Amino acid sequence: QTIGRFFDEACARHAERDALVVCHQGVRLSYAGLKQKVDALACGLMRLGLQPGERIGIWSQNNLEWALIQYASAKAGLVLVNINPAYRLSELEYALNKVDCRALVVSPAFKSSNYLGMLAELAPELGHCEPGLLRSHVLPKLEFVIRMGGERSPGMLNFDDLLKPPSREELTALALLSEQLQFDDPINIQFTSGTTGHPKGATLSHHNILNNGYFVGEAIGLTAGDRLCIPVPLYHCFGMVMGNLGCLTHGATMVYPAEAFEPLAVLEAVSTESCTGLYGVPTMFIAMLDHPRFAEFDVSSLRTGIMAGSPCPTEVMKRVVDRMNMREVTIAYGMTETSPVSFQSGTGDPLDRRVSTVGRIQPHCEVKIVDNEGRIVPRGTPGELCTRGYSVMLGYWGDEKKTAEAIDAAGWMHTGDLATLDEEGYCKIVGRIKDMVIRGGENIYPREIEEFLYRHPKVLDVQVVGVPDEKYGEELCAWIILREEGSLSEADVRAFCQGQIAHYKVPRYIRFVDSFPMTVTGKIQKFLIRQQMKTELG
Ligand code: ATP
Ligand code: MG
Repeated sequence: QTIGRFFDEACARHAERDALVVCHQGVRLSYAGLKQKVDALACGLMRLGLQPGERIGIWSQNNLEWALIQYASAKAGLVLVNINPAYRLSELEYALNKVDCRALVVSPAFKSSNYLGMLAELAPELGHCEPGLLRSHVLPKLEFVIRMGGERSPGMLNFDDLLKPPSREELTALALLSEQLQFDDPINIQFTSGTTGHPKGATLSHHNILNNGYFVGEAIGLTAGDRLCIPVPLYHCFGMVMGNLGCLTHGATMVYPAEAFEPLAVLEAVSTESCTGLYGVPTMFIAMLDHPRFAEFDVSSLRTGIMAGSPCPTEVMKRVVDRMNMREVTIAYGMTETSPVSFQSGTGDPLDRRVSTVGRIQPHCEVKIVDNEGRIVPRGTPGELCTRGYSVMLGYWGDEKKTAEAIDAAGWMHTGDLATLDEEGYCKIVGRIKDMVIRGGENIYPREIEEFLYRHPKVLDVQVVGVPDEKYGEELCAWIILREEGSLSEADVRAFCQGQIAHYKVPRYIRFVDSFPMTVTGKIQKFLIRQQMKTELG
C-alpha cells in the first residue's frame, strides 16, 4: 500500500473524527477537513510541475504546515526530505545538495533562527528572481522556495497560495497519479540525528514507514478515539512516523502542543485536550516530572505512550507509570535506518519487562546478536545488534559505500549498538559500540554506571564517557547535573560508589554541569563531552 492511498481510505473511514489539533496555531481539523487541505496542497505541488520521485525539503519546527506537506508530498509521489530545524547554513547546503532538492518549504523564523535571512545569505539570487525561477550557484538544483506564514518574500512562493481549491481536472490527475505510485518507491529521506558525528540520509519507502507506524501504534494499543500528544520533532522519525503515521493507521488524533518541546505546553495540551497517549525522549519526561508546576495539571486522561530515542532509565519509566498514569507506556528502540522502530514491548507484556527492556522484535522482522567476527553469541551475552525485515531502509541516499557498510549482502542492518537478548527474546540495549569504554582491558558499559549514579536522590541526570588515559588506555568520566546546585561534592559521589560497584567502574573524573550537549531531538552527544574533556585534560 502507498501512503497516499492509505491516507484516502483512512480519511473516508474516520471522516468526522478529529485528525489534528495544533495547540499553538489554534487549528482543529477532522479527517475530512485534513483530506481537503492535503488534496489541495498535493494539487498545488503538481501545478508547479514537480514530478514523482523529485525531492522536496522541509525546514521547519512542528506546525500544521509540516503535517500537510508530509501527506501531500506522499500523495504527489514526491520524496520528502526532513531538514533539522537546528541546521545552520553549511548543514542546510549540505543536505539540500546531497539529495538534489528541487523545492524547499521553509518557515520564516523559529527561536533564534531567521530561516529566510539564512536562505537569502546562501542564495542572494532569491532577492531578485521571479518565484519558482531561482538560479543559484550554491544550490544549483533548487528552483522553488515556498515560505510559510501570511506575508510574502521576494523570489518565494507562498504556502497558502498552494492551498487554493483545485479544479476538477487537477483532482482527477491526482487520483490517476495515486494509482501509479508503488509501495516500494522512495518517499522520504531522513537524516540520522548526528549523535555520533555527521548525519546520514536514510532513504525510506512507503512500505517501510507506513507499516512501521502501524506496528508502533499496535504495540501501544492505539485505536480510533485515542488522542496522542506529539511534542517530539516532526522532522525526526519519532514525530513523523511513530507519531503522525501511528495515528493515521489507527484513526487516532495527532495533538501538537507547541513548535518545539516545552514542558508546560505539553502538560497543558495533555490536560486541555484530554490526551490518552504521550511520546517523548527520556529528558522530556524528566523535565515534565520535575517541573515545579507539574502537580497543577490533570494528566489522568493518559494511558499509554512511548519513551525512546536514547537509554530510558528504569527509574524514569516507573515515575511515568506512577505519576503520569501511563500504565501502558512502552519503550521503543529503533534507528532512522529501520523506519525507525525494531524493538518494542506490547501493552500485554509484564510491567517489569516494559520498564527495563526495549521489548521484543517487531512482527515480520528478525534479530541476531553477533560478536566481532559476526558469530551469534549465547543469550545474555552482549554483542552487536543486527536486524532484518521490511523496515530496513532502501539505503543512504547517493552513498553506496556507507550503505554497504551498514546493510550486509544478506540484508542485515548492523546497528552499531550493543545489546543482549534473554531466553524469551526481550532485548536490553547496553550502549553504542562507539561509547563502550575499555579501561585496562576491562569492558565497561557507561549505561550501567549511569543507572547506578542515577539512584542517588540528589542526582538529576548523569552521563558517563571514556576519556583517553596513558596508563589505562581510557578512564571513566561522569558529568552530573544535580537537583540542587552544590549539594554534592566529588568525594560524596565517590563515597556513594564505594563498595557498591567495582573499583574500576568508579569514575576517575567527576564534573558537575548545568546541561549536556544535545541534538535538537534531545539526544546527548557524548562525542562532544569526550571532546571537551580531552581539551580540558590536555
Ligand atoms: P547518528 O547515526 O547520526 O550518529 P543516531 O544514531 O542517534 O545518530 P537515530 O537514528 O536518530 O540517530 O537514533 C538511533 C539510535 O538511538 C540507536 O542506534 C540507539 O543508539 C539509540 N536508541 C534509540 N532508541 C533507544 C532506546 N530505547 N534505548 C537506548 N538507545 C536507543
Ligand atoms: Mg545511528
